[in-house]
Amino acid sequence: MTRGRFAPSPTGELHAGSLVAALASWLDGRALRGEWLVRIEDVDGPRCIPGATEKILQQLSVCRLFSDGEVVLQSHRNKLYQQALEALIAKGLVYPCGCTRKEIEEQQAALGLSLERHKAAVYPGTCRHGLNGKIARAWRFNVEKWSTVRGSEFVHWQDRRLGIQSQNVFQEVGDFVLKRADGLWAYQLAVVVDDAAQGITHVVRGEDLTDNTARQCLLQEALGLKQPQYLHTPLVLGANGEKLSKQNGAKALDLSSPAAIAQALQSAASTLGLSHIKQLDGQSASLEDTLAIWTQDWATKYLRVTP
Ligand code: GLU
Repeated sequence: MTRGRFAPSPTGELHAGSLVAALASWLDGRALRGEWLVRIEDVDGPRCIPGATEKILQQLSVCRLFSDGEVVLQSHRNKLYQQALEALIAKGLVYPCGCTRKEIEEQQAALGLSLERHKAAVYPGTCRHGLNGKIARAWRFNVEKWSTVRGSEFVHWQDRRLGIQSQNVFQEVGDFVLKRADGLWAYQLAVVVDDAAQGITHVVRGEDLTDNTARQCLLQEALGLKQPQYLHTPLVLGANGEKLSKQNGAKALDLSSPAAIAQALQSAASTLGLSHIKQLDGQSASLEDTLAIWTQDWATKYLRVTP
């Protein structure tokens, strides 16, 4: 039995871009005749918006996208993340870091590491061999050490839409944070722990997250967890050509009437290259029928089978 998931962060309600990921992961679950779960990624409490979780679940339900199991909230799963961190501590694969953001920037400047502004900075590994009297603030994964153990700095993985991907995590990302200085769990650790704990076999999510996958593969290896299959979906771009996001003011989805719901789903389906359903405009096809047609389309496109 396969199991997929949609894992929104409740930093706002669903927008046209997040609906694409929701629809794609749901269709994949149906096409594989597996299960599909919704997980609320509210691990970064300060960024969450009160009421957003309820709103997202309500938006999914009017689109007829129902979780096949209990909706899990990451904020209730500290114990699991702590156990994973302790397992990595026991293997000597994480270390406490005492550097402040300012110190890291100074170290990078001194080393001449020029960084693209939008990319996460590469941590130069200052605390890898000890805190040097500093107070521990965050926990970092020792990418250098794990790369030595596994025999390569390169991570290769297969995306079902984008093909083979590879990244040198040591050079391009460095030792990344698993538990932040403010005590919050980092996305990378929480997502890997939850995907494994929930038995997720197929991850389908937006292409903007592609870059995180190599880090997640490293954590899966280090924790001895099975790697799910990955598929990253096309993004919806805003007028400025940038990815539509809550941060750049994506408009709220209009799901106020059956025609508006049909329209929103039709536009998500077009982004995925699925067929245009004419009857939808006239509302003669039920949403269930439409979803069934798209499931077949999806299966032909991404599973290369006729269900
Ligand atoms: N919570 C992430 C987001 O809303 C998605 C994480 C994932 O699908 O791995 O962008």
